[in-house]
Amino acid sequence: MEKIINYIDGELREPVSGSYLENIEPATGEPYSLLADSDRQDVELAVEAAKKAFPLWSKTSKDDRSEILYRISELILQNLDKLAAAESKDNGKPVSLATKVDIPRAAHNFRFFATAILHFASESHQMEEAAINYTMKSPIGVAGCISPWNLPLYLFSWKIAPALAAGNCVVAKPSEVTPMSAYLLSKLCIEAGLPKGVLNIVHGLGHKVGAAITEHPDIPVISFTGGTSTGAQIARTAAPMFKKLSLELGGKNPALIFDDCKYEKMLKTVVRSSFANQGQICLCGSRLLIHSSIYDKFKKDFIREVQKLKVGDPKSADTNQGALVSKAHMEKVLSYVEIAKSEGGKILCGGNQVDLSEEGLGGYFVEPTVIEGLGMSCRTNQEEIFGPVVTIMPFDTEEEAIELSNATSYGLAASVWTENVSRTNRVAEQLHMGIVWVNCWLLRDLRTPFGGVKNSGVGREGGFEALRFFTEPKNVCIKY
Ligand code: NAD
Repeated sequence: MEKIINYIDGELREPVSGSYLENIEPATGEPYSLLADSDRQDVELAVEAAKKAFPLWSKTSKDDRSEILYRISELILQNLDKLAAAESKDNGKPVSLATKVDIPRAAHNFRFFATAILHFASESHQMEEAAINYTMKSPIGVAGCISPWNLPLYLFSWKIAPALAAGNCVVAKPSEVTPMSAYLLSKLCIEAGLPKGVLNIVHGLGHKVGAAITEHPDIPVISFTGGTSTGAQIARTAAPMFKKLSLELGGKNPALIFDDCKYEKMLKTVVRSSFANQGQICLCGSRLLIHSSIYDKFKKDFIREVQKLKVGDPKSADTNQGALVSKAHMEKVLSYVEIAKSEGGKILCGGNQVDLSEEGLGGYFVEPTVIEGLGMSCRTNQEEIFGPVVTIMPFDTEEEAIELSNATSYGLAASVWTENVSRTNRVAEQLHMGIVWVNCWLLRDLRTPFGGVKNSGVGREGGFEALRFFTEPKNVCIKY
């Protein structure tokens, strides 16, 4: 079986321990490659390589850094089909989604930050006392970047690209559940001529490699995307070491559907925002709040459309829903269907594992599931399920919709469906979320701040926010 190995100091290297884990294909449930089971020793080598590379990389001109990042972006596009097939096999997502969304976006992340760094300017502040301040923004050193499995290359590159563009060197860890595309990226980085040690990718488990990165005294800045409890653990380690931290965590996002919305457009988009990537996008709307005057109509139409979604082979072009990422995750998602039932929820459609073993796909397929009849305080509506499971619930007034939306410990994103401009502004202002989409979903401008509030995280990624995060500002005051 192919071995997924580390990228350290410009070379592909076996883990020091020589140990490997099995990498499972979610659609078949069978191992199909081996993954380096790295540990502290590999992280140490990666940090040493990054520290060695930092003086030169941080002084490399922005133009030259930009050019290399641009080259990586081009190589990703040249290898789009290969990367999309690999991402789909590794994650279970439909290859059509990886081809249209994940891999182009990974290329775009590199291209975006390759150009953003050329426009990243400093503020200056003139004083009346014949003095001027300017803000020097310097790369910090070795950045730690830790990413999850749901959008593997997309989110991995979303961290690495700004860190490198800003002149840092990086020790990165992709999710052990979906390591393949990060491994293929390391080969493209070598081909692009990225100087050795500038980017180091260490594969393996969170409690070994992730913890070693978080605890390392020579990694002063950490960008993490993943679950809220992992984020809390990282924060506990990083806080007394005064590390700079960006945490992009879980969500329990509402969709607020008012009766004056453009109905057909809303319906089509809400099916997508509920079930894209099998509901495994932190931005998916899992609590659908519908104005009571259109509730019955919406329920009927929504279920009809959801039942049209084809659950099947991720490799087939007509598959809408692939496999969930792992057996453990599928079991977690199905356990929430049981919790919903025990809480009095009515399963309107779905709720079961889909058996495709006759097609040679003995993996982790779950029907898209719609549940009604639950209050907002129950576990099904409070805890992140992160799968193809949504609840629907009616509301009578705008105030009630806002109150229900804000009634969880999360605050990542909301989507609002209305044609009323005044309502749009009133609602957007009162939603306690980092991101509000109105009459759309997942429409992303990479210049905008991205992140959540409450248990959904701390800090913002995207655009100049990311470049600010990966640089240290220093004020220089000059009296003349
Ligand atoms: P996870 O927290 O289990 O793992 C994320 C990463 O952290 C993995 O690389 C993992 O190996 C590593 N890790 C695990 N334990 C660690 C430790 N003790 N120290 C350091 N690193 C450790 O999350 P997941 O299951 O891979 O991803 C799903 C979660 O990610 C969901 O909660 C989802 O909402 C969240 N997510 C958030 C965003 C966002 O932008 N807010 C985007 C995507 C996913």
